[in-house]
Amino acid sequence: MTPLERALRDRILSEGPITVEAFMGACNAYYYATRDPLGAGGDFTTAPEISQMFGELAGACLADCWARAGKPEAAIYVELGPGRGTLAADALRVLRTAGFRGQVHFVETSPVLREAQSAAVPGAAWLDDIDSLPDAPMLLVANEFLDALPIRQIVGTAERKVTIAAGGLAFDRDGEIVETAPARTDAVSKIAMRLVASGGAALIIDYGHAKSAPGDTLQAVHAHGFAPVLDRPGEQDLTAHVDFEAIARSARKAGAAVTSIVPQGQWLKRLGIAARARALAKAHPERTEEIAAAQERLCNADRMGDLFKVVAIHSPDWPAPAGFE
Ligand code: SAH
Repeated sequence: MTPLERALRDRILSEGPITVEAFMGACNAYYYATRDPLGAGGDFTTAPEISQMFGELAGACLADCWARAGKPEAAIYVELGPGRGTLAADALRVLRTAGFRGQVHFVETSPVLREAQSAAVPGAAWLDDIDSLPDAPMLLVANEFLDALPIRQIVGTAERKVTIAAGGLAFDRDGEIVETAPARTDAVSKIAMRLVASGGAALIIDYGHAKSAPGDTLQAVHAHGFAPVLDRPGEQDLTAHVDFEAIARSARKAGAAVTSIVPQGQWLKRLGIAARARALAKAHPERTEEIAAAQERLCNADRMGDLFKVVAIHSPDWPAPAGFE
């Protein structure tokens, strides 16, 4: 039994069943605080860890938007849940070349990952939450951040809970599930309100669906494979698909402008991943095959190209970032 499972069982025995939201929140807080889960030796691999092209194109997208907004000097770079800092390092290389001199702010709770981020991006500042961000125009990226925030599951009119049955953790009910994500709505609303008040643009990238629909999308990932959700609490990554329609709705409600929701593959192609891959291969002929493989993994419909979606939220006073038309 994991130390967190012991604590959760004690809590259920004294308080009664706990919500899926409380369970997911407790598991992920423990999980991310105690390890670097990324890469071959960890549990999962994200787009920026597959290729530098991903962060570079995100950086180029933001650099172009910032330039068309008149290159405001006060703008800062913000990333939510930056992992190892790889995306930020790649994006900032492009932004710096474009003349962007703004500060870097990372919203990150994990001490282990903060360590990795400080090695990748010297001079960054860390914050525990979105509320602590300074008032400034933002160029923001959140890749695979929202999927890690806790969701609620509703069956009929009841909230789904985790209980103890037959000596193990179990869900208290089954049936058709509708998911909501108050923590995500809250994060997106806060970002949108800041963009409206101070200017800027945010790129939200994650796996999920462009239209809201019922269904159970809660999943656990361990050592690069799916695992039963209630196994090994705190030792595997719990995620849920992001409802991009709900994200767009929250952002619009806060007064922000929202682009169309596009599949990641399409977005990367529109931003010029093919040309970037050719240039990289020309500079590093020995890496030609690896670069082509990465491009396919990021873009092809049967890989990450379709499941992952991208949407931009921006100030109505700023131009829309490229790649969404
Ligand atoms: N964006 C990175 C990492 C994705 S993993 C990449 O693409 O590689 C999720 C990231 O979000 C990790 O950095 C994790 O520590 C962070 N995270 C998870 N929950 C968080 C929370 N509630 N507040 C701040 N950061 C959180």
